[in-house]
Amino acid sequence: MFLVYCAECEERMLLPVRHVQGLHNLAGGVIAVELTCYEGHRVIVLTGSGIDIPGPATV
Ligand SMILES: [Zn+2]
Repeated sequence: MFLVYCAECEERMLLPVRHVQGLHNLAGGVIAVELTCYEGHRVIVLTGSGIDIPGPATV
């Protein structure tokens, strides 16, 4: 599960892995996870070892 914030829905939500549309490896060990929220909006979450901000968390 991914904890994401959808700017269009203006709310945070937990999305299951099947909402993942793609993974993109960025520089420095950062991974951009592309998801769609329950309304079908596109949401990008940054994760991976190279990122140092609290959340988003994988559950
Ligand atoms: Zn949304």
